[in-house]
Amino acid sequence: MSSNYLAKQVQDLKPSGIRKFFDLASKMENVVSLGVGEPDFVTPWNVIEASYHSLEQGYTAYTANAGLLELREAISEYLEEYFTVSYDAEDQVLVTVGASQAIDIALRALLNPGDEVIVVEPCFVAYSSAVLLAGGVPVTVSATGDNAFKVTAEQIEAAITERTKAIVLCSPNNPTGAVLDANELAEIAEVLCKHDIIAISDEIYAELSYDEKAISLSAIDGMKERTILISGFSKSFAMTGWRLGYAAGPVDIIQAMTKIHQYTIMCAPTMAQHGALEALRNGRESVNDMTTSYRQRRNFVVKALNEMGLSCHLPGGAFYVFPSIKATGMTSEEFAEQLLEEERVAVVPGNVFGDSGEGYIRCSYATSIKQLDEAMKRMTRFVEKHIQ
Ligand code: PMP
Repeated sequence: MSSNYLAKQVQDLKPSGIRKFFDLASKMENVVSLGVGEPDFVTPWNVIEASYHSLEQGYTAYTANAGLLELREAISEYLEEYFTVSYDAEDQVLVTVGASQAIDIALRALLNPGDEVIVVEPCFVAYSSAVLLAGGVPVTVSATGDNAFKVTAEQIEAAITERTKAIVLCSPNNPTGAVLDANELAEIAEVLCKHDIIAISDEIYAELSYDEKAISLSAIDGMKERTILISGFSKSFAMTGWRLGYAAGPVDIIQAMTKIHQYTIMCAPTMAQHGALEALRNGRESVNDMTTSYRQRRNFVVKALNEMGLSCHLPGGAFYVFPSIKATGMTSEEFAEQLLEEERVAVVPGNVFGDSGEGYIRCSYATSIKQLDEAMKRMTRFVEKHIQ
């Protein structure tokens, strides 16, 4: 068989730089991992029980393509309550297989070949690949450490061309933890409205905001009609394995996304939808408890990193810190590789999230204080040895 049978656009995709470190770390013993991007908590018990219960009751068939109406109603109420944005449950909410699927089909619903999509880096590794798979062209804009990794409206405006169709924004951000405030969002919104750009707003970490409540881009004047709000249950409810997310947006876009969804997925898993319904109805206390714990860990890690000489601003949300490792004179890959080799601590080099991540590493603090303490001790030893 010819070696060229794979689709060119798939052959051209770069493998995720995060995987390489997981693979290396998994072959070693006694590794403390700050590498993974998922909660260390188990899903709240009432959510697990609700899912069991749905199976016991025989809810084992497909749901409506867009998801259980009850769940869409609960999502719509939640969005209204939390973000003060109102979406009609029947026409404007689609339940998806994780936020990941929502991002994928949002792009596929919007893009014609060659349409440009602005991707703000450093960012979640999937965005640019999803743009490429949808036939689009990712145009990257770099949020920089000098501005606490907050992209500015001017930077976005400078990247707009007549081919720009959309932008992918993520606040609170993976990997930097940066949270855009109301003023920063309003400035960005003005540019997007002026140039008629659609926003794919990944707000999956919104609940994990530690200093101020996160604001939805959709709640900013003029944005609701041009925003696809994407979120899910993975992070805030510790439900990564359940694969449940959603998109809320303008009727025509949600309808187009539902068309793709119905032909490719049918519906999100039924038992997970029943669990998610319980999470929204009775999960508030668990989210508050987890958030309190993440806040303590964030403060602990940021203090320890700054004390060891890795300068690190206090990120407002998500469960990542993104310290500079420039004082060591190493590249972020060298730092991550040697740290793993010498001290058995796994972190992710910042460059895998985009060029402006070079000189930084991502440390996830979604692990116990005991593990974090051990990791910080090992890192202090490592940095003392290598700092210039
Ligand atoms: N968006 C961001 C910013 C993420 O960090 C992740 C997971 N790492 C996702 C989306 C994917 O979430 P899900 O599990 O809902 O597909």
